[in-house]
Amino acid sequence: MRPVSRSALRPYICPSCRYGAVSGRRRFASKPTQVPDIYDVVCVGGGPAGLGLLAALRSSPATSNLKVALIETQDLRKARAWNLESHQFSNRVSSLTPSTVSFLQRIGAWEHLDKDRAQKYQEMQVWDGETGSRISFDWSMETSPFEDLRTVATMTENANLVRALLSRISESGTENVSIFSNTTVSSIENGIDYPEGPDLSAWPILNVSPTGSAESQAPSRIAARLLVGADGINSPVRSFANISTDGWDYNRHGVVATLALSEPDKAPFPIGMRTAYQRFLPSLGGPIAFLPLPNNHATLVWSTTVENAAYLKSLSPKEFITMVNAAFRLSMPDLKYMIRMERPSSSSESQGYSHEDELTWRLQHTPQPSQIPPMVTGVQEGSVASFPLRFRHASSYISPRIALVGDAAHVIHPLAGQGLNLGFGDVASLSSTIEYAVNHGMDIGDILSLERYPAERYLVNAKIGGACDVLHKLYNVPGNGPVAWARSLGLDVIDRIPFVKGFLMKNAEG
Ligand SMILES: Cc1cc2nc3c(=O)[nH]c(=O)nc-3n(C[C@H](O)[C@H](O)[C@H](O)COP(=O)(O)OP(=O)(O)OC[C@H]3O[C@@H](n4cnc5c(N)ncnc54)[C@H](O)[C@@H]3O)c2cc1C
Repeated sequence: MRPVSRSALRPYICPSCRYGAVSGRRRFASKPTQVPDIYDVVCVGGGPAGLGLLAALRSSPATSNLKVALIETQDLRKARAWNLESHQFSNRVSSLTPSTVSFLQRIGAWEHLDKDRAQKYQEMQVWDGETGSRISFDWSMETSPFEDLRTVATMTENANLVRALLSRISESGTENVSIFSNTTVSSIENGIDYPEGPDLSAWPILNVSPTGSAESQAPSRIAARLLVGADGINSPVRSFANISTDGWDYNRHGVVATLALSEPDKAPFPIGMRTAYQRFLPSLGGPIAFLPLPNNHATLVWSTTVENAAYLKSLSPKEFITMVNAAFRLSMPDLKYMIRMERPSSSSESQGYSHEDELTWRLQHTPQPSQIPPMVTGVQEGSVASFPLRFRHASSYISPRIALVGDAAHVIHPLAGQGLNLGFGDVASLSSTIEYAVNHGMDIGDILSLERYPAERYLVNAKIGGACDVLHKLYNVPGNGPVAWARSLGLDVIDRIPFVKGFLMKNAEG
């Protein structure tokens, strides 16, 4: 991405003061009289958050008449045409909470999702690999056998979701909506007061350029009454608005993969129930999570040190599978040994003892807990990848004529699978804030119109991001010292006090 010019100070100039400020205003060096194309809402970023916002605005009678544009660097034609065989799954999968699903239903996007590729789960088994203490969240206990099982979350490939959102937007018609994909925002500047035209002096103006063959040609300059940054962790919109972020890198990577299983997950009762498993592995740098997918598959998110991630990615499929099975079954010292075993290229001849032999031998001497995931028998080719894990929180979600949503506003540790859910929470709130402003004849870009949005979202996001951060830190202290003791006490206490557990279950539902 090309560097985005920063406007160090982007003051909001109220109409009564603006004539006094004209001399200090930025002006374009070239073509100052050419008025840019004017839109009510311009969203930068066509990831799930940006497309979710567009779909929400298009689905409400109050906001469907707004003139909206979305600009995305990637080619969204590929996202529309995305198609995989039923036994293959993308490695980017998110667990969507019931409140995210109900938002997607409300805006008409859920019916466009390929449900055969999505998997609900009703139970979560979480345990500490160091102390063995365990907590289980079983929603089936809360419902009668005659009711539908209550869902903790629904596993959905991000690509399936993006395709569904695009399809929902297409269904809403072509009037007043422009999607400029294969197009990048190269810089953002303040507008000017056009002597013979509109006063755009307090409006952001985007300079855009194609990154490939575009479906629809974007104008080179676009003015936004409200500019929404749904443009991810390095948000150019956030930089333009001069909004700072707090945060740190965890120095951990999330290793993801699509796994094939030996047999369906056999939850004893009721039939059809599916379970997600997460085991904290403090000595290896974070938890390993196994989340169910349809057709006897699962998706893996293993948060671990950068070195361990590199090691896991270097293994052959057979060895990788063995390490995943080991991570849910062996003791910490055994695992630490196995993750330092010589790599396959040199190991087979020099030692003659493979990861598989090692696991088979060690399992004979390791008592197994009652609840562990089914054995993994395969890993989809090309699905093993890793992503750096980071924490970021913007100091503000709004500034005059600007709002940030999704990863542009906050990035959190994935151990609770909440990042995208928070993004959809933002989108639901911002779209209803815009709807309210339209219904009350307010200017949708005015800071007073926007204030409702951070009031609803900022603390919620800070609380969940902070809780994930604390959990990450707590579960990164290896050994059996006081922290491990406090940890196990924590999990055991939570598991035994129905009130506390009920509270946590409600929060996990979203
Ligand atoms: C390993 C891992 C597992 C996760 N698991 C879960 C989970 O189970 N549940 C969950 O809720 N969340 C999960 N998350 C988090 C989730 O993936 C992210 O929060 C989510 O994808 C962010 O979506 P977004 O639309 O905000 O941003 P992004 O998906 O980053 O989209 C930003 C878009 O902006 C575009 N863009 C950027 N700059 C420009 C520009 N200058 N011009 C035009 N376009 C631009 C980019 O091309 C991109 O498409 C996980 C994250 C990781 C790393």
